[in-house]
Amino acid sequence: MSNTPESKPSAILADNKKAPVSTSMPENISLDKWADTGFEWVGQVDLTSFKRLVPALSPEHTQEKTQLDASLYRRNNVLHLAFTLTGDVWLTCQRCLQPIAIDLSDDYNIALLEDESQVRLINEEQDYLLLDEIITDSSPERLLPFKKLLEDEILLKTPMAPKHDDCEMSVEQFGEIPEEEEGENPFAALASLKGKL
Ligand SMILES: [Zn+2]
Repeated sequence: MSNTPESKPSAILADNKKAPVSTSMPENISLDKWADTGFEWVGQVDLTSFKRLVPALSPEHTQEKTQLDASLYRRNNVLHLAFTLTGDVWLTCQRCLQPIAIDLSDDYNIALLEDESQVRLINEEQDYLLLDEIITDSSPERLLPFKKLLEDEILLKTPMAPKHDDCEMSVEQFGEIPEEEEGENPFAALASLKGKL
């Protein structure tokens, strides 16, 4: 028979056992699968996908994608989540209400402890979290809430009331007296204002 259907292009050879490198950022990382072998994820992150961060984002400036380079690994038998962020987040200046870029670029590292006794295994200055406190999902699989932890760190790095270092608005708002008027009697100035009312 000659009318054999053309063979379909072979399905992408997805190796599910390999940590993904370029797919979208995982919401969770299965500790059952990856805690022993380690896990890496490298890619670009859309800051608007972080729901708790969204209210702080400037509506007037496009958010650029942030580069994320993350890895889960064991050191001294303690699980660590390390990641490097590269990029800015655009917030709103609390003085002039114009967009302001905040650099999120940094190296982050959190030890993930099985219990308090593991505190002895890490350096004093090492940030840590207890796995029991962050794995709240009751599913049988132990899932590390990767995206949530990432968002927590981004929120910690994000100032509550960002302001431009050289915000023009600040001068107007706090009404600094121009130097040439320094010699004038402030009460006279007030009096003249009053006269205008
Ligand atoms: Zn400003």
